[in-house]
Amino acid sequence: MTRTVLPKNLLVNAGTLLEGFQNASEWENWDNMTFANDTAHFREGAQGVKFTGAVDSSSLGVKAVNLDLSSATTITAVLYIENNTIVDDYLDYGTLRVYLSNDEDLTNNFVYWLNLDHRLSPGYNVIRFRKNECSVSGSANWKNPIIRLGIRFSSFAAGAAVMTFCGIYADQENIPKLVITADDGDATAYSEIFAYLNPRGLKFTAFIIGESVGGIGKVTLTQLQEMYNAGNDVGNHTWDHTDLSTVSLEEAISKITTMRGWQLDQGFVRGSEHLAYPYGVYTTELLGALPSLGIRTGRLANALSVPYTYPPVDNLYLLNVGNPSVDNDLATVKTYVDKVAERKGTLILLFHKLVASNPVDEQWLISDFQELVRYILAKKVDVVTMSEWYRELSTPRKIAR
Ligand SMILES: [Zn+2]
Repeated sequence: MTRTVLPKNLLVNAGTLLEGFQNASEWENWDNMTFANDTAHFREGAQGVKFTGAVDSSSLGVKAVNLDLSSATTITAVLYIENNTIVDDYLDYGTLRVYLSNDEDLTNNFVYWLNLDHRLSPGYNVIRFRKNECSVSGSANWKNPIIRLGIRFSSFAAGAAVMTFCGIYADQENIPKLVITADDGDATAYSEIFAYLNPRGLKFTAFIIGESVGGIGKVTLTQLQEMYNAGNDVGNHTWDHTDLSTVSLEEAISKITTMRGWQLDQGFVRGSEHLAYPYGVYTTELLGALPSLGIRTGRLANALSVPYTYPPVDNLYLLNVGNPSVDNDLATVKTYVDKVAERKGTLILLFHKLVASNPVDEQWLISDFQELVRYILAKKVDVVTMSEWYRELSTPRKIAR
């Protein structure tokens, strides 16, 4: 599947093409890198360039370019990652660097570093950064022409990193969106999250475990109905929170469809198309089955130290989150919100139980949640539910170019 047939991803400005990756022979190996034309994965023309690094080492490919980035604000790279047996390892430990150099030997250059640790997923990915997020070497100056573009992979322990680059753009813009989600149906989803968001005109998505509704410390069906009727989504967190990688595909499907059936019986239609994997865990075969179950998105639960905010990934079944927790405090999560606005992408936040004091693990302070909400409002980032986000993604719109 090429990227051109996919949803519009809230794109409002396609930006300026800087590099279309149309010819592998234009790339020079400076360090362990090999190149091949990839006619299966591309964004521009009819091919991209597949970069293959070396095992457990640094690999660098460089191309002569002539780019004026003096007035650009953001750089966006579109790339494709093959799903193979080593992909998890290099996404765990690898680093991707993009070099933009004023000179031929990369002395005076700008470098954008991405420590991968699952910021990227198998399939198509979109990376976006602001120029001022690059580190600066030598006397690099954005006012001078960029004459070399470099791609480096580092330290992939278990195997060679393989990525097909499809396009690099200046100033591509999506409509910034923030999706607030809360998992497991803790009672505070109603008593704190809904109670604070609703009077402020904000909506969220409660990912609910069917069998626990009405249980001790959990939301009740009546509360879910009130939240749903106020415009919030009641999403699918499976019937009983089974780790879907520990059961057969058939059983995993039944955990999801049982929950979806319950949601539809209760009239919770909007959220029934949106799944959050228990523990963020899935299998490749399950991903393949989800579209036929009527599931449109799948949300992960990874707790990244700095979540990758993206113009939505093309694989809507592997949606990353920012995870407020004892490890990610209020000041940190505020920086996530800043990045959504600056990079013009989407951020999904994942909350669990809110507590008045002494949070542990995935819990967060009620007072911090409230201050974060006030911060989001002050930043004027548009807050949407999963179903609103998906609908807006899928609606074609006029693109400036
Ligand atoms: Zn959960």
